[in-house]
Amino acid sequence: MLLSRVRSAVTGRRLATAGSALAIVLLAHVVSAGPVPPEASGRAVPAAQLAGAAAPRPRPAPAPAQRAGCTGTVALTFDDGPVPGTTPRLVRVLRELRVPATFFMVGSRVQAHPELARLVERSGFLVANHSWAHESLPSRSDQQVRASIAGTNRALVRAGVHPTRLMRPPYGAMNARVRADIVGLGYVPVLWDIDSLDWHSGTPDQIAGRILRGLHRGHNVVLQHDGVSRSPLSVDAVAKVVRTARRHGYCFTALDGRGLPGYPVPVASVSVRNAPEGRSAVAVVRLDRMAARPTSVALAIRSASATIGNDLPALRARVTVQPGRLTASIAIPIRADGLTEPDERAVVWISGPSGVRIGRSMALLTIPAQTAGGPARWSPLTGLSRP
Ligand SMILES: [Zn+2]
Repeated sequence: MLLSRVRSAVTGRRLATAGSALAIVLLAHVVSAGPVPPEASGRAVPAAQLAGAAAPRPRPAPAPAQRAGCTGTVALTFDDGPVPGTTPRLVRVLRELRVPATFFMVGSRVQAHPELARLVERSGFLVANHSWAHESLPSRSDQQVRASIAGTNRALVRAGVHPTRLMRPPYGAMNARVRADIVGLGYVPVLWDIDSLDWHSGTPDQIAGRILRGLHRGHNVVLQHDGVSRSPLSVDAVAKVVRTARRHGYCFTALDGRGLPGYPVPVASVSVRNAPEGRSAVAVVRLDRMAARPTSVALAIRSASATIGNDLPALRARVTVQPGRLTASIAIPIRADGLTEPDERAVVWISGPSGVRIGRSMALLTIPAQTAGGPARWSPLTGLSRP
C-alpha cells in the first residue's frame, strides 16, 4: 500500500482508493506532542498501529462548482503548526503571492505560541482545528476526542483567534464514531484530495511536482505541513505551485464552511455609535466570523427626522472588512446647526454584499436633543474617514 501510494503520487495519478491512501499517512509525521490537557489524558498510540481504525475519506463534492474562468479551484492547507520560524515564513510567502490558505493547528502548539496563531489569522488566513496533541482519534474515547477538539478551540480563542468550525483529524484517521464526535461538537471534518507527501521526502521541486500533477478540474484540497521537520522544504515549494497552477488557469481559494475550496460566507450586521452635533457618529459593520478575503457592503443613510444633506451627509460608501478582521467602521460627521431641536434620527443601512450575507441591515442613528447656543461650527460633510 505504501509503495503504490508513493508511486501514484509521483506519477501524478489521483489517489483512487481511500483505504490505501490513509495507510501511509498513518505512518507519517508524528508531531512531538506538547502537553496534553488533563481532561484529554491517555497514552499516545503509535500511529502505525492505527491503520485499521482509518475510515475512508469522503470524496469532494461531485459537482465541480467551478468558478467562472477557472480550470479548477485549489485550497492550500497547512497542518501541524504553528511553529516558530516556519509558520511566519510561510505566512510571508503566501502574502507575497496573494494566495489564501487554511491552517489546521495543533492545540498544544497554539498554547505554546499563541502569537503565531494570531499572526496567521491577522495575515488573513483561516485557522482550523487539528486536535490537541496530534493524537490519532480512533484510539481515544469519545470523551477524550471531544476534550481534544474543545481544548484546541479554547487555546485558539485564548490566543485571540476566531477559529473556523473545520476539523482535520490527525493522519486523516477517522471512523464513524470519531466522525460523530466531531460533527456532534458542531465541526466539519475535512480531509484532502492531494497529498504533497512533504513530510516524507522530496526536494521543493519534487514536492511542487506532486501537487501540480495531482491538480484536476473541480475542487482540489492540497495537504502540506508547516509543523513537521521537512516543512521548510514544503514552504519552498509553495511559490512554484502557485505560479504554475495559475498559469494553467487554476484559482486559489480558502475553505468554505463545508470544508470545500471556496470562501466562508460571513454574515454582516451594522450598528451605530451615536454622537452629538458637531461630532462624528460611527457606523460599524461587523462580521459574525473571519473571512479569508476582503468582504464589503454598500452603506448609505436614509432620512428619518434628521435631514440628509443638512444634518447629515448624503453618504453612500463601500465599507470593506479586511481579511483577518471582524469589523470595519466609517465616521459620519454630524453638522452642528446650533438650533434647539428634539432628538433627530436617520437610518444607516447596508446592502449590496460581496462575499458576505446581510444579517441586521439597518441601525438607527440618533442625534441627541440639542439646545440653542451649542457648538455652531460646521462639520465637514466630505471628510469621511475609516478609522
Ligand atoms: Zn497532522
